[in-house]
Amino acid sequence: MFDYTPPPALLAKRIILVTGAGDGIGRAAAKSFAAHGATVILLGRTTSKLEAVYDEIEKAGHPQPAIYPLNLEGASPNDYEDLANTLETEFGRLDGLLHNASLLGTLTPIEHYDIEQWYQVIQVNQNAPFLLTQACLNLMKSSREASIVFTSSSVGRKGRAYWGAYSVSKFAIEGLMQILADELEANTTIRVNSINPGATRTAMRASAYPGEDQKSLPAPEDIMPLYLYLMGPESRELNGQALNAQ
Ligand code: NAP
Repeated sequence: MFDYTPPPALLAKRIILVTGAGDGIGRAAAKSFAAHGATVILLGRTTSKLEAVYDEIEKAGHPQPAIYPLNLEGASPNDYEDLANTLETEFGRLDGLLHNASLLGTLTPIEHYDIEQWYQVIQVNQNAPFLLTQACLNLMKSSREASIVFTSSSVGRKGRAYWGAYSVSKFAIEGLMQILADELEANTTIRVNSINPGATRTAMRASAYPGEDQKSLPAPEDIMPLYLYLMGPESRELNGQALNAQ
């Protein structure tokens, strides 16, 4: 596991948006950021799941979060503009952006990959992070120092048979991360990095590896040290890096 012990108030006063915040790693990240003092914006497609995370954060006495239901598959550029405008009005800036939501699609040879599903996976995993980042950049420039974190995968760093659109989208995410890191380095205080969470006990992992003993895997909460480190001030100098949470 990435070795880092965060101070309790690591993210005090930071405004952090998490996509896919209703379940799995995104849910753990949102709760963990809030527990370290951040105001989190919970974005996802299933409102009831976002509400459950909201309630947990509130009950724990952490800063009051906000919910932003959005289906990244159908969202238009206007929807991202609306989101950025809402954040501007409510908070005036954005200090952290965790691109976490993604779709697995099916594990199928390219020869037989369903074309509709290809578009769907690329839309959610690749186009949505581009659109969301573009819409939020101005808000992030208003932060003293902001952090963009993309979520990759081992198949985003080395291709593997049958991982299809999911793998291709994660390679694209690594590319987007590198390009943005290079573009933003000179004239902004925004840093951009990617995380490969590694095998983690979530619904997505269970559907990719149905025969696996889920209990043998780390829980989403266990992999949070790297997420916290990247959102906090101590990673200020880190830019353009592809990192592993485990
Ligand atoms: P998960 O349990 O399936 O959670 C994914 C989250 O993304 C869910 O909250 C889901 O919403 C949301 N989401 C999916 N499609 C969406 C859409 N169209 N619009 C808005 N939200 C959407 O997956 P996870 O395992 O936590 O994965 C989190 C990230 O880590 C992903 O980027 C994944 O590729 C990456 N990753 C995971 C592992 C692993 O072992 N778990 C390994 C490598 C990389 P709903 O709850 O409403 O479905």
